[in-house]
Amino acid sequence: MITAPSFDRIGEENAFAVLARANALAADGMDVINLGIGQPDFPTPPHIVEAAVKAMRDGQHGYTAATGIPQLREAVAGDLHRRFDVEVNPDNVMIVPGGKVTMFTAILMFGQPGVEIMYPDPGFPIYRSMIEFTGATPIPVPIREERGFAVSAEEMLGLITDKTRLVILNSPANPCGGVTPKSEIDQMVAGLEAHPQIAILSDEIYDQMLYDGEQHVTLLSYPEIRDRLILLNGWSKTYAMTGWRLGYSVWPDDLYNKARKLAVNAWSCVNTPSQFAALEALTGPQDSVAEMLAAFDSRRGVVVELLNAMPGVSCVAPKGAFYALPNIKDTGWKAKPLASGLLEKVGVATIGGPDFGILGEGYIRISYANSEENIRRALGRMHEFLADR
Ligand code: PLP
Repeated sequence: MITAPSFDRIGEENAFAVLARANALAADGMDVINLGIGQPDFPTPPHIVEAAVKAMRDGQHGYTAATGIPQLREAVAGDLHRRFDVEVNPDNVMIVPGGKVTMFTAILMFGQPGVEIMYPDPGFPIYRSMIEFTGATPIPVPIREERGFAVSAEEMLGLITDKTRLVILNSPANPCGGVTPKSEIDQMVAGLEAHPQIAILSDEIYDQMLYDGEQHVTLLSYPEIRDRLILLNGWSKTYAMTGWRLGYSVWPDDLYNKARKLAVNAWSCVNTPSQFAALEALTGPQDSVAEMLAAFDSRRGVVVELLNAMPGVSCVAPKGAFYALPNIKDTGWKAKPLASGLLEKVGVATIGGPDFGILGEGYIRISYANSEENIRRALGRMHEFLADR
């Protein structure tokens, strides 16, 4: 069949392939420990599950507005106000089926042959995949270990050309756990003021996962770019709801209707009981968010300590999200063969850095969304694997 060439340019998120392989090995009897996939190992808090069950029992079975139920859009605006003291009009909030859908929509909106879109490298693989799908030129913004995996405003601004249409930022970041400090964000925003034709997509899906007292800085708090800022956020990570497919975006006025029309064409609305669960997540008790964060924080300490004790491995302490990106350059291994050896030989699933971009070579991603016991077992196996080879 002759399909559109754009479909030959779509990439992948290898975490899903690794998950499938890990499950296949486990089905064959191997004791596999998964430090590959980026999803909390906690169940969705029971009061949130109950809200979805109640919605189903109450007969919430039909379509909603394509942009989401009004009370949920209001709750999102209220939550952003409560946490960051920013004003968001619920009319600018769109409920979408997962965080990915906002990046899909934003990149489709700006990507076309002849334009450039900037994205973090190493970074979430879907950014580049979608940019290439649209025919736009992907421009990687290097995320460097020596800067604690924070974005350099100077380096980013230096990559802007008259073809740049969209800049993608992600802090706290996947796959490296980097957090870009306010000083760099201030500088970035100041520099972007000279380029009013550039839209900004800020992926803040890990905005409640920061450690060591770090405070999240949302791009929403910069009025000078609000007319071209698209915020990506959602429930997947904060409330352990990856399988519910729930996300939200905040759009500037003149882009909102374009995004709404794509929703009408592609997914109609987010499934209705999930929206009621999302409402309960934002308006109900928040204890589980703090409890999960405390668990991730203590595992983070274990992961960093055990990785740094391995021959040839060094690991910068991540400041956010639930990933570590150890440097494995002195082990003599390339990243993908190491990740594959760890899975096939000792049953430890990780993701090779090159799956997150060209600058990912020399690193592997460890997700510490697993129990401390499993993390200790898995990293013990990795230590032995490296010592033996
Ligand atoms: N953005 C980043 C940086 C992510 O790491 C992820 C998921 O891993 C997403 C977006 C997508 O989230 P969702 O599962 O809600 O589509």
